[in-house]
Amino acid sequence: MSLIVQKFGGTSVANTGRLQNVADIVTSTYKAGNQVVVVVSAQGDTTDDFIAKAAELNDRPSKREMDVLLSAGEQISMALLAMAIQKLGFPVISLTGWQAGIETDINYSEARIRKVTAERIRSELDRNRIVIVAGFQGINKQDDITTLGRGGSDTTAVAIAASLGADLCQIYTDVDGVYTADPRLVPDARKLEAITYDEMLELATLGAQVLHNRSVEMAKKYNVDLEVVSSFTRNPGTKVKEGSDMEKMNVSGVARDNNCARVAIINLPDEPGVAFKVFSLLAKHKVNIDIILQSVGQKGRKSITFTIPEDKAEEVGKILNANKEGLDFEDVSINTTVAKVSIVGAGMASNPGVAAMMFEALASAGINIRMISTSEIKISVLINEEDSEKAVRAIHQKFFNM
Ligand code: ADP
Ligand code: ASP
Ligand code: MG
Repeated sequence: MSLIVQKFGGTSVANTGRLQNVADIVTSTYKAGNQVVVVVSAQGDTTDDFIAKAAELNDRPSKREMDVLLSAGEQISMALLAMAIQKLGFPVISLTGWQAGIETDINYSEARIRKVTAERIRSELDRNRIVIVAGFQGINKQDDITTLGRGGSDTTAVAIAASLGADLCQIYTDVDGVYTADPRLVPDARKLEAITYDEMLELATLGAQVLHNRSVEMAKKYNVDLEVVSSFTRNPGTKVKEGSDMEKMNVSGVARDNNCARVAIINLPDEPGVAFKVFSLLAKHKVNIDIILQSVGQKGRKSITFTIPEDKAEEVGKILNANKEGLDFEDVSINTTVAKVSIVGAGMASNPGVAAMMFEALASAGINIRMISTSEIKISVLINEEDSEKAVRAIHQKFFNM
């Protein structure tokens, strides 16, 4: 007997027919003699609809109340799925995040899971029940509801799998695996049979929405066997696992992130401690910084340009302008119509020429690069947002369709 965690995303539970389909998948797994814990997302566009509803009443609602609202989406799904499974005659119980023992830190709207106290789940499994847990939510030390950030149900599933020592964690979604690029953007993208945790973590962090990046981070840390599969076809999916000794792929995928903004702080003093001042100020406000570029100093002045998540753009503008005197800069400009396009591959470091190939693809497509950043397993470029689809296709063509 195996213990399997199965997570179903929003499209997979979007309506009655799809919930019945999920009930079939779950109960076949159970009938085959396995213990099953199911994690569900909110149905279809429910989370977006809730956000829009909130905005009609208040353009700055508290994060606490937003979390109370958004967590309701997953609770609708869990109850409906439980009813569909009951109808098929199987023992089942649904649990909210807090009933399931998912404890988080206090950061509403992007809380991190601190601990899963899985006693309740275990006791329900011992009673031979299928256990359904609401994804994307937990409880903090003030006994308040928190949510884990958009796409966070994947992380709920992996956290539960890790804490139960599950044999497998399956992420059921609307594509049948991880592809070399988003198949919606690149129709001839190829499905990967397997991908390493490190590569998947980079792809997810760089914009491949198919897995929440923190779920991959956690799967790696606790060595959770992870698999991305389709809830609509029976095709084999993609395994996410530790790298094998086999020859690493030069490039395993292309990712795009349109949700970034470029901040340029013009004419800062060219002296020690300036970068420290700027970035410690932003760190205090919990702003994640990505690509950083510093200009060559001229006449005792220099400029620093960096990227941030787009939803922080307004706040960062305010923070910097409020500290204009202390930081002693001339101007700050923020551009939200940029996109980051990246290639990821564990074999990149030992294969010179990969960067040149990427830049050649962009040059041939007439796309201007604004910033570049590299690491052992990725190369990212910042370009105009309007060029991003063309860029992904051109780069994909270069590496995968030669
Ligand atoms: P769910 O609601 O099931 O969590 P998501 O919408 O979060 O599903 O993620 C699945 C989507 O991720 C796919 O529909 C696909 O368009 C997108 N995606 C982006 N990059 C990739 C990739 N490299 N491989 C597969 N899917 C990708
Ligand atoms: N419902 C949440 C969202 O739309 C969480 C999830 O689907 O993973 O982001
Ligand atoms: Mg998702």
